[in-house]
Amino acid sequence: MTRKLFIAGNWKMNTSLADATALAGAIVEKIGSVETVDMTVCPPFPYLTSVKEALADSKIALGAQDVFYEDSGAYTGEVSTAMLKDVGCTYAICGHSERRHVIGETDELINRKVLKCISDGIMPILCVGELLTQRQADETIEVVSRQIRLGLEGVSSADMAGVTIAYEPVWAIGTGITATPDQAQDVHAMIRSLLGEIYDAATANNTQIQYGGSVKPDNAAELMNCPDIDGALVGGASLKADDFAKIVQAGK
Ligand code: PEP
Repeated sequence: MTRKLFIAGNWKMNTSLADATALAGAIVEKIGSVETVDMTVCPPFPYLTSVKEALADSKIALGAQDVFYEDSGAYTGEVSTAMLKDVGCTYAICGHSERRHVIGETDELINRKVLKCISDGIMPILCVGELLTQRQADETIEVVSRQIRLGLEGVSSADMAGVTIAYEPVWAIGTGITATPDQAQDVHAMIRSLLGEIYDAATANNTQIQYGGSVKPDNAAELMNCPDIDGALVGGASLKADDFAKIVQAGK
């Protein structure tokens, strides 16, 4: 089967309200009607509603950068799946490396978020990836496999239809250093074969696996041409409408 490419923009803790709506508007103008690639942008929580309005009538879905696993209550600062659905989110990023390594999220916590998304109809983008020290110690496969197994604990093969995996080597995120297509493809192939082990060949074949880590217009095509790379999770370059559009067009 041919998997559709999926390109997501993670705006992180950037933009103002005015910047966010202008950026969404500019992205819609450039690529809002593209149907051959799945697309989402993930602005900061306070701007979700305004960005949703700017995305109206386009093919670009709204995504959140994070989510919590409880329905409501005394969880100061957290945002529920119901809230995300209320403002029109389709996707939520779970376990981004900045949440794992800056905030201290564990695989168990991330798994609860993934399960909550699935049960409430939000499509999770589960991020995995090794630190530079782990790559240097030849631990990439072990680390990524553990993150996948624990992150997907309790997720059925039917549920996997709504789950995206993003392989993001931590040493490549925001550093300007990109994994070479071969380095990325090796890990993506490993992830796909692991999904085949955990689930079955059809599930492995159908799952979109994005690459993330300094994806730019000039390296997007060669990365996305790799057989097991099904798009990109883009940080820095998603803050420029031109660059994000070129990355989408590279996959078109
Ligand atoms: C990211 O935010 O997931 C990311 C990959 O960032 P960047 O593209 O800036 O490396």
